[in-house]
Amino acid sequence: MMQISAQEIARTLPISECIDVIEAAMKAVSAGDTLQPLRSIMPVGDGNAMGMMPGAMGEPPVHGMKLISLYPENPKRGLSSHQGLMLIFDTDNGTPIACLDASELTALRTAAASAAATRALARADSTVLAILGAGEQADHHLPAQLAVRDLSEVRVWTRTQANARKFVDRHADVNADIAAFETAREAVAGADVVVTVTASPDPILQGAWLEAGQHINLVGASVATAREIDDAGVAAARFFADTRSGVEVQAGEYLGALKSGAITETHLLGEIGEVYAGTLAGRISSDDITIYKSLGTAAQDLAAGYEVWRRLTA
Ligand code: NDP
Repeated sequence: MMQISAQEIARTLPISECIDVIEAAMKAVSAGDTLQPLRSIMPVGDGNAMGMMPGAMGEPPVHGMKLISLYPENPKRGLSSHQGLMLIFDTDNGTPIACLDASELTALRTAAASAAATRALARADSTVLAILGAGEQADHHLPAQLAVRDLSEVRVWTRTQANARKFVDRHADVNADIAAFETAREAVAGADVVVTVTASPDPILQGAWLEAGQHINLVGASVATAREIDDAGVAAARFFADTRSGVEVQAGEYLGALKSGAITETHLLGEIGEVYAGTLAGRISSDDITIYKSLGTAAQDLAAGYEVWRRLTA
């Protein structure tokens, strides 16, 4: 069985090449060609958790499981908040074929998934990107978003101003104007695409700030008790899920808006894979506000992990 490090993943499957892999995986999810039992998240104390995400795909023929520690305070110790292993098996003969670093794989596939959603839902003439959050996911989302839109301006806001400035320094060579903003509201004003990648349990983005035509990738909140946008924001948008089954039980933004009566069940239009397949309308008008709610799904880990293994063994 092959052990595949974070560095090998990054070298083997650049984000720009992962986007098509993830789009195909999400089409397969919506076509019912994958199995992904709802992930389990087990608290292990002090606000930390262990996530277990099993899944299986028909094409490519792979199944497996991601085991991942979720330690939100880890960046303060210089460690990733998501550490773990992705084990993949050859579905033809049941043989385990690779064990991949789950931190890099998760960051890669999540950013690629958001980029695919932006490619499908954002206005074609989008030039301004606002990123709320400045951690590992933000680092991966920046190149991914640049791969799908001709962006001339990138704004970043995070809770700790110094971290926004560090983000700008890390990405100073990017082919766009990049700047740290003091408030999320200022960063979002006039942005065409907004990416939320914070570990905040409470909304950092307000519906009152949204403008016609914006596309938003909601990525940071992965449990029912956390949310990055308020009810008004959810209600204002054409709202798409990565998986309907996941969002209906684990997406705090959707569940919160449903509970308060700001929306009804029909507000969840469907899955992004249906948009990719052309069976569900995405953006209808240039004035629409669109939201892609990302929780992450096993098919994304399997498809990206398998593609890395395939390239390394080709
Ligand atoms: P990092 O720890 O590297 O970065 C976390 C970011 O969130 C930092 O910008 C931090 O701000 C900010 N933040 C943390 N707590 C709060 C708070 N209470 N209020 C406001 N901002 C806060 O994490 P990652 O980049 O790896 O992950 C970001 C989020 O994305 C996590 O919640 C993670 O669970 C989620 N995620 C979602 C996935 C999906 O598939 N949808 C996949 C992987 C991760 P500061 O500058 O102050 O440090």
